[in-house]
Amino acid sequence: MTFLAPRSDFPLLADTPTLHYLDSAATAQKPRVVLDALQQFYERDNANPHRGAYELSARATERYHDARATIATFIGATDADCTLFVRGTTEAMNLIAYGWGDAHIGAGDAIVVTAMDHHASFVTFQQLAKRTGAEFRIAELTDDGRIDMTSLRSMLDSRVKLISFPHVSNALGTINPVTEIVALAHAVGAVVVCDGAQAVPHLAVDVEALGVDFYAFSGHKVGGPMGIGVLWGRRALLESMSPWQFGGDMIEIVGDQVTTFNTLPHRFEAGTPNAADAVGLAVACDYLTALGMDRVRAHEVELTALLLDGLQLLDGIRIFGPMHAQERSGVVSFAFEDVHAHDLATILDEHGVCVRAGHHCAQPLMRRLGVPATARASVWVHTTPDDLHALMTALQHAKSLFADVALR
Ligand code: PLP
Repeated sequence: MTFLAPRSDFPLLADTPTLHYLDSAATAQKPRVVLDALQQFYERDNANPHRGAYELSARATERYHDARATIATFIGATDADCTLFVRGTTEAMNLIAYGWGDAHIGAGDAIVVTAMDHHASFVTFQQLAKRTGAEFRIAELTDDGRIDMTSLRSMLDSRVKLISFPHVSNALGTINPVTEIVALAHAVGAVVVCDGAQAVPHLAVDVEALGVDFYAFSGHKVGGPMGIGVLWGRRALLESMSPWQFGGDMIEIVGDQVTTFNTLPHRFEAGTPNAADAVGLAVACDYLTALGMDRVRAHEVELTALLLDGLQLLDGIRIFGPMHAQERSGVVSFAFEDVHAHDLATILDEHGVCVRAGHHCAQPLMRRLGVPATARASVWVHTTPDDLHALMTALQHAKSLFADVALR
């Protein structure tokens, strides 16, 4: 195995051969085809979709419409109108909270999240609970970084109206048992929100087969542009929801005192849509489809096994999350007792190695792990064993530097 996707597919990587980009979990590098698609949209198809009666506007509308269909197919959604464009996973969670939560959750109800939820869902649903007077429950984790199913089961009763969890943890790499959780949640009548931000770039996702009620992801982690993402929801749920933002395009008839609202998906897409970025995201999905999501997964399992093996050779390291590559994604967090993650990341940067250091927008999780921060390396389609080798060399250098400082 050398690579799945050549560096030459990614202009930023092609232009900086010494860079070892191991931070795809934060944001992915963009394939050239995505950048070309953005430029082409603005050069050839740019007009305000749904607005003009002229041919150019019709073309922009068609490109936007086709992008939605491509992305819906990519995530297994047969009803493209239930695939809403949002700014990203964060906005998707807020849309659910304000659009569904405020109308359906009240005092006496309960909301369940997990200790591995990203702040995008954790804080959003915590604040929903605060607004509505609902109880906020947090399912705990096992020592090896999985959702503790005993803890989760103990929290599910008829008061629970909504449960949120990540398909894949951004800080632990754990791949959660979605269908099992869905079955438990639906048995008590709860609506299931699944955060797919760390899943869609790496696994073949079929939202309908998963059985969830809402599924969200961010385009920029899939190789698409920043500022575009998707919320997929079941039609019946979306149709029962009030719009959460108002303005152009989302209306049907505006009376002086009363307004009626457009059908899906426009009802939830107020104002001029982010058409160019939607087109870019569709091209990113096509890029991954051409690589083959099964091959993407196989490539990442192989690299993750190498990464875990390499890290385990380092003295004093703590690796978080499941230890078998088959059971996790290629997001690997680790910490050394004697070195702060930020210091480590700064030294790695001197070796051209980019990793994330921090709390990964998962402070409740960090508290449970008993660390202020971790370093996190993550792999994607362009990652090679050479990138991982560079990481290991840089880590060994960093360790020796810190050992010298400790001796002084
Ligand atoms: N959920 C998970 C699991 C993530 O990894 C991220 C991004 O780091 C988010 C949500 C938030 O995504 P965005 O900042 O693109 O809205």
